[in-house]
Amino acid sequence: MTSKEKSAELVNKYVHVFSCPICKSPMKVTHLKSLVCLNNHTFDFAKQGYVNMLTRSTNSHYNRELFKARHQIIMESGLHVLLHEKISEVINEHMNAINEEILILDAGCGEGSHLQRILDECNNETVIGVGIDISKEGIRMAASNYKDSIWLVGDLANSPLAVQSCQVILNILSPANYKDFRRILVPDGLVIKVVPRSNYLKELRETLFDDTDKKSYKNDETVSLFKKHFHLVDIFNLRYTQELTQTELTNLAQMSPLAWNSKKEHIDHFTNQDTSEITIDLDILVGINKLTKGGREYGKCMY
Ligand SMILES: [Zn+2]
Repeated sequence: MTSKEKSAELVNKYVHVFSCPICKSPMKVTHLKSLVCLNNHTFDFAKQGYVNMLTRSTNSHYNRELFKARHQIIMESGLHVLLHEKISEVINEHMNAINEEILILDAGCGEGSHLQRILDECNNETVIGVGIDISKEGIRMAASNYKDSIWLVGDLANSPLAVQSCQVILNILSPANYKDFRRILVPDGLVIKVVPRSNYLKELRETLFDDTDKKSYKNDETVSLFKKHFHLVDIFNLRYTQELTQTELTNLAQMSPLAWNSKKEHIDHFTNQDTSEITIDLDILVGINKLTKGGREYGKCMY
């Protein structure tokens, strides 16, 4: 059986969670080849096993080199290990509380390594991972590397997932669409959003930017927007440093949107160091849907 057919079988098992991004009708898998809705809108499986469900064309800054660098940082440098452990701990506690099969959507998953690491860490067969990203390049790499999850090219503003289909939504250092998150999340489902704090990658920022405004992050607005849409049940701060090698520093600069508008000499200065301590400073926000349609609050705090 080919990668494409295996993925089509996996999608078929979870086909009830899909909804056509064009007409919102239910979908089915035909001939282990395509996802098709009731109105015959058809999305084919690519040979790597992902499905492109975008309904418009897009331009993306994110290219193969960036995703290769991101893959190496996440899978090999260990820079995010504590992040993955903490998120898995939150998911496992939640699973113990609800005791049913769960679908974890990584919204804005890039090349899929955060989702893969978190699923490895959860180590639970009742969990299925779904990764969605607008970048075809990222999803193609995810589908080639990680065969046990479902990978979709799609738009977070119009995701191909059904109403109340996800038990957990991850949104890691990536833009969100809260309206759609609320639509696809089950009533007591979790949204886990990771946002930078002021010292996140400060060594990189300090080298790249002359402008003091850009040397640190402020996440107040992001956190208050999150609170407008979800009942914040927990917030964890992760702060640590790790020494990276020169190759890892080069990968870090390459995967980071921070470097896109920076001068080459600044990037070279950063990547020419033999080693450097790098600071991770993140908030992990854990939220649940604030209101149901009837206006009743699902405010049961689990932590
Ligand atoms: Zn349709």
